[in-house]
Amino acid sequence: MTKLSELGPPNLGREPAAELDHFYVCRNCGQLVDRRDLRQVIWHQNPEHERLEFDS
Ligand SMILES: [Zn+2]
Repeated sequence: MTKLSELGPPNLGREPAAELDHFYVCRNCGQLVDRRDLRQVIWHQNPEHERLEFDS
């Protein structure tokens, strides 16, 4: 499992906007992706990725 934090820091300066509009379900792994977080978006664009492990 790759930890989210291993992909670098999240994008700064973005609005902490209202919730669910910003999520979509990845068609490859079925995980919920936060499209405000470019690391997650890019990660899930990889056709051979596995699910991300989130820091809790
Ligand atoms: Zn995915």
